[in-house]
Amino acid sequence: MTAEHLRLAGIGAGPANLSLAALLYDDPELPNVFFDRKPHFIWHDDQLITGSTLQVSIFKDLVSLSDPTNRFSFLSYLHDHGRMYHYINAQFASVPRSEFRNYLAWAAERNENIVFSETVERVEFDGVFRVVTDRREVTADNIAVGVGTVPWVPEVAEPYLGATQFHVCDYLSRSKGLRGKRVAVVGGGQSGAEAFLDLISRRESEGLARVLWISKRRSYFPIDDSTFTNDFYMPGYSDYFYQLPESKRTEINSAHLLTADGISESTLRAIYQELYRVQFIEGAAHRFGLLPSRTVTAVDRIGGGWELTVRHNDEPDQTQCVAVDAVVWATGFRPAGKEFLDPLLDRIETENGEFRLDEDFAAIWDGPPDRNIYMQNAARGQRGLPDVNLSLNAWRAGRITDRLHNRRGAEPMTSFIEWSAKNVRGTQ
Ligand SMILES: Cc1cc2nc3c(=O)[nH]c(=O)nc-3n(C[C@H](O)[C@H](O)[C@H](O)COP(=O)(O)OP(=O)(O)OC[C@H]3O[C@@H](n4cnc5c(N)ncnc54)[C@H](O)[C@@H]3O)c2cc1C
Repeated sequence: MTAEHLRLAGIGAGPANLSLAALLYDDPELPNVFFDRKPHFIWHDDQLITGSTLQVSIFKDLVSLSDPTNRFSFLSYLHDHGRMYHYINAQFASVPRSEFRNYLAWAAERNENIVFSETVERVEFDGVFRVVTDRREVTADNIAVGVGTVPWVPEVAEPYLGATQFHVCDYLSRSKGLRGKRVAVVGGGQSGAEAFLDLISRRESEGLARVLWISKRRSYFPIDDSTFTNDFYMPGYSDYFYQLPESKRTEINSAHLLTADGISESTLRAIYQELYRVQFIEGAAHRFGLLPSRTVTAVDRIGGGWELTVRHNDEPDQTQCVAVDAVVWATGFRPAGKEFLDPLLDRIETENGEFRLDEDFAAIWDGPPDRNIYMQNAARGQRGLPDVNLSLNAWRAGRITDRLHNRRGAEPMTSFIEWSAKNVRGTQ
């Protein structure tokens, strides 16, 4: 046990809390420590497939959109490694995902307030938060929860997960040794697309017998990354969304899913070109199958492989049975469990399974107003799709930092679009 007392204890050190840790670094008024259970920093390392890139602008790094002169910016990372000119000359259309991962790891390593190999097991409150890890106990005036997401597979797959059926989060480790096999990729988002592209591109000695791509969506849809759509990913829209009624927020999240979960145009083009090569140049059309509008309804073991029962969503009386040797489930992620907050559960308000947050991302609870539980990447229902991606990380962390200082900094300029009938541009 230690007697360490903090102004803020962070739980989790993924990009969301790393951003907050970066903004709080060197702040004499806010001693802080962030705990992460991982032994060292990683960021979806088993999905760093060659050619994968960041799906957002590099200005959406940990700090720039909130504090552009901060030492933990991507530019600072490039400068620190002496590769500014090389980065410019490389003319990347998007940052390679592995380079962004290395940037995040650099930021985590440079910040001595980030502690790895330490799991937060319990948080109690008796005037201060008592944060109990598997190694010690610290007290803190505030906590920031940023535990992110965990992989999800449909119930039919759960009993069979292992060497030949795995979630795409384990892709690089598990997808070796598939030469000559029949493989199904299930899931029509970016992760499924990247796995399918990688498998279908394997040549000669590594080549697969057949690769199927099954998706619930009607086709393989691109991410909408166009100009006005990106205004959904601005702070002003997040605040507008926050004050809408719950039913409207749910409707908007479902209507605009492809602004977050669609496939990058460059990945789609690469897949199409690869299919052209396989069918017309290699003359091996049997090596792939594209099955959108389908739901996998059952999984059965047959011989040494698997049989997937697949229902057509537009022709529900039509089912297909496909035999494969391996299945990659690219079926997404769900919010991670927050069992460590169980001792406080009956004191925090909830809405549809989320903790209800105030406008500064603090949970609404019956504790004192200067003792707060900040939640990052845990309010998709209240803050919309950007809450789970990198777009508003720096702004959200900036807002939390301001609240910790009891101030409200200047907000970024509003969108060209007048989202609300209440605030008309030019009259505020
Ligand atoms: C392959 C992939 C690529 C992505 N690419 C993009 C992209 O290009 N652009 C974009 O905007 N978004 C992207 N995302 C979405 C999103 O930005 C990331 O998922 C991001 O990692 C979310 O950050 P986070 O900090 O909220 O959560 P996480 O990165 O999941 O971090 C949470 C951390 O909490 C720790 N933790 C959990 N429980 C405890 C505990 N009890 N005690 C201590 N530590 C704990 C975990 O070890 C973990 O390190 C991508 C997602 C994936 C899967």
